[in-house]
Amino acid sequence: MTKICVLASGSKGNAIFVSNDKTAILIDAGLSGTEIDRRLRSRNISPDVLDAVVVSHEHGDHIHGVGVMSRRFHLPVYINEPTLAVSRTRLGTLHEVRHFQRGASFCIGSLTIHPFSVSHDAADPVGFTIRDGGAKIGIATDLGVATKLVCHHLEGCSLMILEANHDLKMLEEGPYPWHVKQRISSRLGHLSNEASRDLLGAVAGSKLKHVIVSHMSETNNEPGKALSVVGEAVSHQAARLSLAPQHEAGDMIILDH
Ligand SMILES: [Zn+2]
Ligand SMILES: [Zn+2]
Repeated sequence: MTKICVLASGSKGNAIFVSNDKTAILIDAGLSGTEIDRRLRSRNISPDVLDAVVVSHEHGDHIHGVGVMSRRFHLPVYINEPTLAVSRTRLGTLHEVRHFQRGASFCIGSLTIHPFSVSHDAADPVGFTIRDGGAKIGIATDLGVATKLVCHHLEGCSLMILEANHDLKMLEEGPYPWHVKQRISSRLGHLSNEASRDLLGAVAGSKLKHVIVSHMSETNNEPGKALSVVGEAVSHQAARLSLAPQHEAGDMIILDH
């Protein structure tokens, strides 16, 4: 049995809790240590059960609490070298650093993690798949474009945490300055609802049970739009669609396998 809880998702902070009977990890810790602690406890999880933090890329909304969590709970931090090189000062002293390389699977306890390269404006950004027994979880939340490599890795997932950042029209007509709009919609930015739908349509298989629509912009998107557009990709499937919240922990999802 695998348990997954998105503790936060969006430009104000990201963190995902993944565990089974033996191992518990955080993928990113982009909230303050205190807030991560509070959100874990709100879902009846003690932070003491954590075994590690895994970092996807160096943007503040993904690493803000990594240093504090590592020091406070004596957690090793799994991170690739280019990402560590550009975030060392912000992370501060870490309890322990363990390097991974994109494209090379590694194990934390009984979870097998595969980091794959994504197109995003960071030093060496990655998405992840996590395998636990027969379950496969796909995490792709900061990517400007769904490359063939990304699609390949997300095939056969039982649960996907997938970015649907913006509605193209809302972004275009919204308040952001032109250069920020350009950055968001570029190959190195974030996926629109439509791009997310197309990605999901290309990879959704018979094993897919849950899709958590994530990293939604509070300025350039609306929950109803994100869910209905992304949902088109799985309208004839039994997969359950939900939205990852920014300001509270999401539901604990349990995958049997
Ligand atoms: Zn980012
Ligand atoms: Zn982000």
